[in-house]
Amino acid sequence: QDDQFKKVISHAKEYGYVFQSSEIYDGLSAVYDYAQNGAELKKNIRDYWWKAMVQMNENIVGIDAAIFMHPTTWKASGHVDAFNDPLIDNKDSKKRYRADVLIEDYCAKIEAKIEKEVKKAEKRFGDAFNKEEFVSTNGRVVGYQEKINSILSRMAKSLENEDLADVKALIEELEIADPLTGSKNWTDVKQFNLMFGTKLGASAESAMDLYLRPETAQGIFVNFLNVQKTSRLKIPFGIAQTGKAFRNEIVARQFIFRMREFEQMEMQFFIKPGTQKEWYDYWKEHRMKWHLSLGMGADNYRFHDHEKLAHYADAAADIEFKFPFGFKELEGIHSRTDFDLKAHEEHSGKKLQYFDHEDNASYTPYVLETSIGLDRMFLAVFSNSLQEEELENGTTRTVLKLPSVLAPVKAAILPLVKKDGLPEIAKQIVEELKWDFNVIYDEKDAVGRRYRRQDANGTPFCITVDHDSKEDGTVTIRHRDSMEQERVKIEDLRTIIKQEVDV
Ligand code: ATP
Repeated sequence: QDDQFKKVISHAKEYGYVFQSSEIYDGLSAVYDYAQNGAELKKNIRDYWWKAMVQMNENIVGIDAAIFMHPTTWKASGHVDAFNDPLIDNKDSKKRYRADVLIEDYCAKIEAKIEKEVKKAEKRFGDAFNKEEFVSTNGRVVGYQEKINSILSRMAKSLENEDLADVKALIEELEIADPLTGSKNWTDVKQFNLMFGTKLGASAESAMDLYLRPETAQGIFVNFLNVQKTSRLKIPFGIAQTGKAFRNEIVARQFIFRMREFEQMEMQFFIKPGTQKEWYDYWKEHRMKWHLSLGMGADNYRFHDHEKLAHYADAAADIEFKFPFGFKELEGIHSRTDFDLKAHEEHSGKKLQYFDHEDNASYTPYVLETSIGLDRMFLAVFSNSLQEEELENGTTRTVLKLPSVLAPVKAAILPLVKKDGLPEIAKQIVEELKWDFNVIYDEKDAVGRRYRRQDANGTPFCITVDHDSKEDGTVTIRHRDSMEQERVKIEDLRTIIKQEVDV
């Protein structure tokens, strides 16, 4: 698993997808830059989401709100008071950790023991093995599971009651050690706010304290009435937005899974109070369908319904994806009630209500939210696509099987040799195709090596121009995944590529 994840990270760098930020200064932790291919892949994911949410839904519109917002926004949203992580320092190593993550990692180790037992039994019983039955009846496994449940529920309760002393007590009782040094010498647990602060204004007296937004959602809430009035949309309707968000995350690890500067794609759906359950189910199903439409395998997704709810929610679920380090949250679907709009009404003194002509009455709408991290989606797509394949001739090839609709480069145009007029024909094809697709020209190295380079880069098509092309106007088109090659007319290329890369 670790090996696979390391391969993902080094491939992302080697093929121009993701670089560490400010690398020449040894980088900045949990901050990354998207390189020439990464920027394209990220843009294509964003477009795929925008198309599905905004373009395909008559009753959803998109906005682009500012990152800076009036500071009272964050008081109203609860972020000033409640957007905290519980931190603990190790007195010997002086390293800082998230207390809840230390405890969760401890539980993950127990879970690994369960997996080991399951694997052993699977081997022993073969086809007759029934995993569910084994997990629910095997004494040792049941014991492990009970231990995990009791640890996690005690932690959740202590955090909810702000009983930080008990969180520390739990860490001590479990004898959790500093993962780096093994020391068990811990400080007390403290709450730490995740928002980045900054200042607006030139002079010291007039400067105003601001925060960089920790989520894009609030930019939608404060614009709710402006959008509703100018769009004349009737409830139910949605407002979507993509954009940067900032969190001073303490556990900065797992590459672009958890970043300090990241991008969200959020949609707030405004509904009539009382209909939230129906819309919650609708959006859960709809968002899962969106993920499955990319063809990355249904087994890689699962729902995780929350028992412990955030202060604003009456129901919440995550769509989890199987990352190289296990199933983790990719997207959240939250039934946020009227918490946000009511809070903004209270803090701003302005009404944020909707007049329902059918009912002849005004009300504060309820909100259903879908929130996905663009960078996490990038990691899901990229890590799932990177594969090593054994070929018939005994060699292996590295291939990045990106969904074609998301691939940064759709086709590489390759002259077989650098002479006899073949480069001219290839360049002419590039000139024609570039109006519709991102294509590249490549003449360096033997054609076999160029194919491998494009496989590793995730390019779905290679188009090779050879001597016959001069005679009959045909070229060879090679498919990345099957490696099959066909002879086609140059004038048909556009249609062939379009069929595969268009949604
Ligand atoms: P986590 O529990 O992983 O910290 P969260 O529950 O705080 O995530 P939300 O506040 O619900 O996340 O944010 C919605 C989405 O934004 C998440 O599902 C995730 O995809 C993305 N996201 C949140 N924090 C980060 C981060 N630090 N880096 C990258 N993406 C993030």
